[in-house]
Amino acid sequence: MKWLISLIIIVVVVVALLIPGSRDYLNNLTSVSPCDSPLTYKIGSIDSRFGLSNTEVSNDIDEATSLWSNAEGKNLFEESPKSQMTVNFIYDQRQQLDTQIQNLQSQLNSKNQNLQQQISAYYQQSAQLKQQIAQLNAQIQSWNDKGGAPASVYDQLIQQQKNLQNEANQLNQTAKQLNLSTNDYNSQVHNLNQDVNQFNATLSIKPEEGLYDPNNDTITIYFASNHDELIHTLTHEFGHYLGMGHVQDPNAIMYAYSTSNLKITQDDINELHYVCRKQDVFVLWLYDFRVYLHQTIQNLQNQTSTTN
Ligand SMILES: [Zn+2]
Repeated sequence: MKWLISLIIIVVVVVALLIPGSRDYLNNLTSVSPCDSPLTYKIGSIDSRFGLSNTEVSNDIDEATSLWSNAEGKNLFEESPKSQMTVNFIYDQRQQLDTQIQNLQSQLNSKNQNLQQQISAYYQQSAQLKQQIAQLNAQIQSWNDKGGAPASVYDQLIQQQKNLQNEANQLNQTAKQLNLSTNDYNSQVHNLNQDVNQFNATLSIKPEEGLYDPNNDTITIYFASNHDELIHTLTHEFGHYLGMGHVQDPNAIMYAYSTSNLKITQDDINELHYVCRKQDVFVLWLYDFRVYLHQTIQNLQNQTSTTN
């Protein structure tokens, strides 16, 4: 009886395979892609120093993930409170330094503008004073050539000379103050440069402004200088979540270093299509089995080495 059932199954399968289109149907059944159904995520903790509400973060993630979804022509990500994958915003040294740099820069800009105005006013007053001194000297010279000024004119000339001397003293005072302000400005520029150097040094150790950690099922955002940079980082880390690796094009979203670029390049699209390609279930199963076998052998080796 058993052989009859087996024979019927074989005949049904062979006949089914002969029907046009049935092979494609079977292929579809056994081929899967990680992009078949949306990957889920939930929003975890957001450090208040980022100044972003939950809704703003949710909208930012929507904006970021839709770049991938639009490129693939289907919804690739979905927010779900039940998801294991959590997006956290953790304020780190880079955000602190970046905020510090931006504040110092705007303070210095307004100070510089103010100083420039004061310096140009000083030069204008100096030039006027020089002209007045030259006119007075010419008058004195002319009276001297005539053998001396009458007493009333002499007193007037002395008074003018005193007034100009006072003005010169005041201008010298202004020059000293401007010099002090310029020194103070330069030392603040020095501080700013030190902050920028420290920021760049930290950035060279941690080039990415976020991190996707598959072991802990988290995406962490550490800092962003502006909105575009945040969207770029979110898009980049969600790309990693989908399984994408880094690409060579410096303008690409999946380039290893952060930029404010929000346009998906051909390198990004190639990587996205590669990750979303259909793969045979059997091949995937073989891959999983190979990983499992590798891990088992390693565990066994570790056990043997510790017992030795
Ligand atoms: Zn990366």
